[in-house]
Amino acid sequence: MKTQSAINTYLKETGGWVASQLEACTRCGICAEACHFYQALGNPEYAPIWKLEPLRRAYEQRFTIAGKLKLALGLEKKLTEADLEHWSKIVYEACTVCNKCAHVCPMGIELGPLIHEVRAGMAAAGVVPGDLAEATEKQRTVGSPLGVTDEMWRERIDWITDEWEVDIPVDKAGAESLMVFTSIELMKFPDNLAAIAKILNKAGENWTASLKGREVVNFGYFEADEELTKLFMYRVFQAAEELGVKKIIISECGHAYDAFRWTAHNIMKVPAGVKIIHITEYLHELCKTGRIKLKEGAFDAETITFHDSCKIQRRGGIIKQPREILKVLAPTSFREMTPNKEQSMCCGGGGGVISIKEADANRYAVFEMKLEQMLDIQAQAVCMVCSNCRLQFVDSLAHFNSTIKVHGLAEMVARALV
Ligand code: SF4
Ligand code: SF4
Repeated sequence: MKTQSAINTYLKETGGWVASQLEACTRCGICAEACHFYQALGNPEYAPIWKLEPLRRAYEQRFTIAGKLKLALGLEKKLTEADLEHWSKIVYEACTVCNKCAHVCPMGIELGPLIHEVRAGMAAAGVVPGDLAEATEKQRTVGSPLGVTDEMWRERIDWITDEWEVDIPVDKAGAESLMVFTSIELMKFPDNLAAIAKILNKAGENWTASLKGREVVNFGYFEADEELTKLFMYRVFQAAEELGVKKIIISECGHAYDAFRWTAHNIMKVPAGVKIIHITEYLHELCKTGRIKLKEGAFDAETITFHDSCKIQRRGGIIKQPREILKVLAPTSFREMTPNKEQSMCCGGGGGVISIKEADANRYAVFEMKLEQMLDIQAQAVCMVCSNCRLQFVDSLAHFNSTIKVHGLAEMVARALV
């Protein structure tokens, strides 16, 4: 039954685009070396192309002569429940859906979105790692993957307002912009949330947060459950429509930006006339238009580098904006890691991996390579624009007893405000 649900999902998805992608693969194996999990752990099952195996088998066995022959001759078996359990561990615990592998594929195969389809089959079959499923369920029932209820959210916002002495408007009628934060910021990095509020107020933005549209993280998207993905975005869109805002500003979260900025338009109705931007684009715009002024060289005392987030920089293309801001904040001490920009290596905690306890060893192994990249340039601090990456950096740097400091870009901008 479980297996059939997964196969049905795969067959439904292999109508056009997916089929053409699977057919184009020459099995050259070049994508393997691009994957940080494969590089760090050397497990051949972590090669990107192998992660597509359940999708490929379902497609070939149903639609191609070669697949049918392999099945008839016993060279290949039908997918079983044990296979699903096996690949579930591979695609959720050893893939951050960072899509770096697609950048090296000579056939232009979009491996990340295809692995998302493999996850979709797992989600349909209910074969999702327990921790991830639990967080998704919390988001469905109480509105936050960290279990933050409406009441807790209000209390926490009140506490941040008092602690940082910053005004955070909630459900303000007539606001121009809806600022949607992450539970991670709310609970783990309240300084970042306060920083964003401080900047918006300083810029004179007519903005609001919203109780109904309070969560930007999307665990349905991590799982690849389309209905839940839509439900979690719908809550935000509904809040935007009720408040009549013209703009939704996505806080420091990569997967959320990917879901809202690109995926939403393909799977659901997005409120007409509402612009969706990432906070990094917005900060850049504020600096360029002179709505905020920054103290030049405010962070020049320490060697600082920038970590490119897969969904914001590689996929979203927001590459020059954070660098232009960092050029003001740290004009002489900023240094690039290698690789960087579109070619940057994932931190290892994205795509829901950090929420799965059993994946800890995998993500630490990947992070060790990131740490080496930072040590190579003697970085004393690292800046990023995704709270999920920040969580992975803070946790992993502590794991490796490193003293490198971690900053959110908004937090740096707020500290440098003139
Ligand atoms: S999407 Fe990223 S993590 Fe997943 S297989 Fe490709 S390179 Fe590896
Ligand atoms: S690099 Fe592209 S063509 Fe080569 S194995 Fe990977 S997906 Fe297939």
